[in-house]
Amino acid sequence: MDMRLQFLGGTGTVTGSKYLLEVGGMRLLIDCGLFQGYKTLRLRNWARVPVDPASIDAVILTHAHLDHSGYLPLLAKEGYRGPVYCTAATRELCEVLLPDSGRLQEEEADYANRKHSSRHEPALPLYSEEDARACLLQLRPCAFDQEIRLGPKVALRFWAAGHILGAAIVELNVDGKRIVFSGDLGRPHDRIMKPPMVISQADWLLVESTYGNRQHDPEDPRVKLGQIIRRTVAQSGVVLIPTFAVGRAQSLLYLIHLLKASGEIPQVPVYLNSPMAIDATEIFMRHQGEHRLSREQCEAMCRGASMVQSAEESIELNRRHGPMIILAASGMATGGRVLHHLKAFAPDARNAIVFSGFQAGGTRGAAILGGASHVRIFGEEIPIRASVDNIPNFSAHADADEILGWLRGFRAAPRHTFIVHGEPDAADSLRRRIADELHWPVSVPDYLQQVDLTA
Ligand code: ZN
Repeated sequence: MDMRLQFLGGTGTVTGSKYLLEVGGMRLLIDCGLFQGYKTLRLRNWARVPVDPASIDAVILTHAHLDHSGYLPLLAKEGYRGPVYCTAATRELCEVLLPDSGRLQEEEADYANRKHSSRHEPALPLYSEEDARACLLQLRPCAFDQEIRLGPKVALRFWAAGHILGAAIVELNVDGKRIVFSGDLGRPHDRIMKPPMVISQADWLLVESTYGNRQHDPEDPRVKLGQIIRRTVAQSGVVLIPTFAVGRAQSLLYLIHLLKASGEIPQVPVYLNSPMAIDATEIFMRHQGEHRLSREQCEAMCRGASMVQSAEESIELNRRHGPMIILAASGMATGGRVLHHLKAFAPDARNAIVFSGFQAGGTRGAAILGGASHVRIFGEEIPIRASVDNIPNFSAHADADEILGWLRGFRAAPRHTFIVHGEPDAADSLRRRIADELHWPVSVPDYLQQVDLTA
């Protein structure tokens, strides 16, 4: 059976994941992510996908993070009317994340129009909140570990990836051939998430490489976060933690709960300032069994923080003095309420900015973590005088050894392994390790590259 794969994103970057599989007359799009970070990447969101959206038969999402799902509203707006297969938790998280993404884009366009800061007049959002809500009707929730027939010779299966709630490894069975998309892989020993499912066989494999050139710091994040909080609280400062609303926010809340419960940090007020993270926390509590926490542990974790819903409460926080801990999205400081907090708190040396995960090149997060003395926020240069830290070992992604460990679960080498979802150094480093240590045929595909998988 004819089979062709094209890489429409997730190449040379950790964003924009989109893989087009054409098989026996069907067109499947695996992941439908937004490009984020460098402007040259973001501009790709505006260039149409090189395939007519109306001609796609099915979209399959590995998980809800926007770099895997955030292009969906645009695909639907441009004519895609078919089903979007995903796990139940992924659908619930998309119901939160996608409308918010639309709203943020409308706000940015409005802002650019008011300040005349865009070369385009009027500046338009990539898609609106309404566009995002419209595409949610296409989501088809599926159970893990069950075969879903997409066509006479094409079947789909989701396996738990352990990365965030609902995250899946996608296995497509096409006329007896297996193509496996790792999606984002979780870690074998996470406090909250279960380990990724071991997959034993694939004819073709796409594997992520976010941390393909790195090992997570073995230091316990609990120790480092505890130190930062104690130090900052002692000088009445504010601990500002830019966080991803989904996954990371829940892990942080749980860690802060443990630190308080054990007396490692004082009982300072904690604010979760992200309506989206609050919704995601509720979804997290509904899906017991997908993670390691009991209902009691979930409830204790939530009791430890005040949930900040309204914009007024959010603004009010900026007038308040420390000591306090604020968690706000987005995790790479590319948008969201955390920008207002950075503006308010970054210029004061008593405060601490604590990142909690990978900061993609070109984002404010990467600039601040890289030691930038100023960053631009809403057209203003904001000085960074607060201390800047990254919590070690706090990623929702497998590191290089952990990816290799997962790959060793395959009983035989796939015919070919494609390394995706990594910046160039990370992808190439993982390529070398797979070639040297596993002796598998492996390559790093380019943007828009097509490969023929016909047997
Ligand atoms: Zn992800």
